[in-house]
Amino acid sequence: MSADAAFAPGAPVAVLTAEPLGRPLDYRAPEGGCTPGAFVEVPLGPRRVLGVVWGPALGGFDPARLRGIARVLDVAPMREELRAFLTRAADYTLTPLPAMLRLATRAPGLFEPPGTRRIFQLGSGTPDRMTDARERVLAVLRDHGGAGFVLGELATLAGVTPQVVKGLIASGAVIEAEAPRDLPFPRLDPALPGKALSDDQAAGAEALCAAVRSGRYGTTLLKGVTGSGKTEVYLEAVAECLRLGRQALVLLPEIALTAEFLNRVEARFGARPGEWHSGVTQTERRRLWRMAGEGAVGMVVGARSALFLPFRDLGLIVVDEEHDTSYKQEEGVLYHARDMAVLRASLTSAQVVLASATPSLETWANAEAGKYARIDLTARFGASDLPEMRAIDLRAEAQEPGRWISPTLRAEVTARLARGEQAMLFLNRRGYAPVTICRACGHQIGCAHCDARLVEHRFLKRLVCHQCGDSQPIPLACPSCGAEGKLAPVGPGVERLAEEVADRFPQARVAVLSSDLFGSARALKEAIEDIAKGGADIIIGTQIVAKGHNFPLLTLVGVIDADLGLQGSDLRAAERTFQLMRQVAGRAGRAEKPGVALLQTHQPDHPVIRAILGGDEEAFWRAEAAERRAAAVPPFGRMAGIILSGPDLQPLFDLGAELARRDAPLRRIGAELYGPAPAPIARVRGRHRVRMLIKADKAAPLQTAIADWLGQLRVPNGLRVAVDIDPQSF
Ligand code: ADP
Ligand code: ZN
Repeated sequence: MSADAAFAPGAPVAVLTAEPLGRPLDYRAPEGGCTPGAFVEVPLGPRRVLGVVWGPALGGFDPARLRGIARVLDVAPMREELRAFLTRAADYTLTPLPAMLRLATRAPGLFEPPGTRRIFQLGSGTPDRMTDARERVLAVLRDHGGAGFVLGELATLAGVTPQVVKGLIASGAVIEAEAPRDLPFPRLDPALPGKALSDDQAAGAEALCAAVRSGRYGTTLLKGVTGSGKTEVYLEAVAECLRLGRQALVLLPEIALTAEFLNRVEARFGARPGEWHSGVTQTERRRLWRMAGEGAVGMVVGARSALFLPFRDLGLIVVDEEHDTSYKQEEGVLYHARDMAVLRASLTSAQVVLASATPSLETWANAEAGKYARIDLTARFGASDLPEMRAIDLRAEAQEPGRWISPTLRAEVTARLARGEQAMLFLNRRGYAPVTICRACGHQIGCAHCDARLVEHRFLKRLVCHQCGDSQPIPLACPSCGAEGKLAPVGPGVERLAEEVADRFPQARVAVLSSDLFGSARALKEAIEDIAKGGADIIIGTQIVAKGHNFPLLTLVGVIDADLGLQGSDLRAAERTFQLMRQVAGRAGRAEKPGVALLQTHQPDHPVIRAILGGDEEAFWRAEAAERRAAAVPPFGRMAGIILSGPDLQPLFDLGAELARRDAPLRRIGAELYGPAPAPIARVRGRHRVRMLIKADKAAPLQTAIADWLGQLRVPNGLRVAVDIDPQSF
């Protein structure tokens, strides 16, 4: 029992339930008190639910009026630091505490006692009789390099019943063993030599190491073009953190990137880090969750939710590709992993490194204002330079209808193929065609549940909604007028581009990289490795190719539609397009050979296109910052979105109108309220969504005002109100 355990009767318990209970409830502490952070079972209404003791027990309660804590679970209590982080994160994002708490307890079997478990492993025997189901079980075991599984998980992965697994035991093809539940992770050795760093890199690494040694919180922007060696630099900061016996977390935006990264970590430190993302088995997640808490894993690589692991002593968080939009969680708890990384680090005296070639305007501005330190790596590592970038003015090209590769771009691709180099064509649109239109009546086929047009996917032979995932076979007749044979695809997607490429370059080996064409992260990873080795001549890809992959033979990037991101009225459009185009262009010429990036555009004089081509980044950021400052929007003002959703539109607007009438708490802090208007995603899965936007001064207590404002609201049945602090589009 720890020193702060108290014997007074009432302990606040944060309860892990689905109900939006805003704050911890009070329960009677068990005889002998209970440690703050303890996992407990408590009665709630007619049920028993899990909870966490949120603070020290306090006296002054009438014991008769408190219900008692039913049971204290035999697992390590949640540390004070993590509880403080969850409380602050809940306050910041205006999320009910239980929902936040669930993010931190999302590993299966956490509450089972450790000890041993029965696992099933590959044996040396051969089954007397082979069936498809048996073959699948053995394939899963072979695929996982001898690792064992608990029965249920193995059966699920193989798609068989547990009986099939058990049936393989008699022949010795599968063996059953007793294994410790959670093994520590192999130790990473920071003393192994890293690469010899360039002067730039060495200076950056030393600055980061000094920051880590300070034992204080701080954030550093590590900026450098793709290939400038940022990863090597922050791995030195990881090494320093490991030397101090603290833990390091590296967040990556894309699971497909982890494979290459894990190899690099292994090469640097002699062992693999722990992994935390959707591709990791349940058993492994549970192990990592526990080992993080025991300090038995030094380094973790993960997706944004790894921020909620119960680290024993977190000393460093790296957010790689910090500008990436996938760091914003847009469903459930709405939070931005970059901001939460900074919050958690500040509460645990850790350092944050935000690495990017094209930082978000928020981060750039924080560095300008001196809130973040900044390290620039100016040169690309080794011989390669940033690729030359040029526009192809589509207004001056003789373009055939239904074709998307201009004659100029075609000639450039041909030249690469002749030299045995790779060319990449970038188009940020999955599927075959974004719109299917009826040539008889003009009807465009839309999703029945969402405010979205269905996208033809020819490989799947279906029309798919990119918002809710619903799909249907491609119809023969127009669903509106019934005309047959009149439905026509309009506009390009990567699949259609692939068709054009096959037509134009019949000799070339073509790879299409689009997230929906791969059944698993592993399949995508294998495709990427194959391309890196020269397994394709032309790579066609959506934005998954923009991220960090290293293709040494690639010397040409053609952007099919550089104007795509500039449409729409979103204030972030310029920033996004600038980032994406520079990232994509950065794919070319990462090896010794110089690269070129060509942007097909109808508006070569657009300020953003000119900024991309001109390459004066700081000038671009300064101009963007000036515009945002003038409009008093983030990062120079604060915003929040209120998303009202429900089955019918009218009640949402009514609710919005009521909110607008009662806006006194917002007016008190000088905030402005806009809307209700259809949300950026106006209908999802049959639910309508309208949004109100709040704009406030940088220093205004926005969360408190919103909590006051919404606190009084009675939300009619069936409607939902969600708050999105710092919305990504505005
Ligand atoms: P970034 O993270 O900025 O994209 P990386 O750290 O991935 O850059 O470096 C790009 C490439 O250059 C990688 O293949 C990396 O191994 C190599 N590299 C970087 N720094 C060095 C170095 N000091 N010595 C040798 N190779 C290096
Ligand atoms: Zn839909």
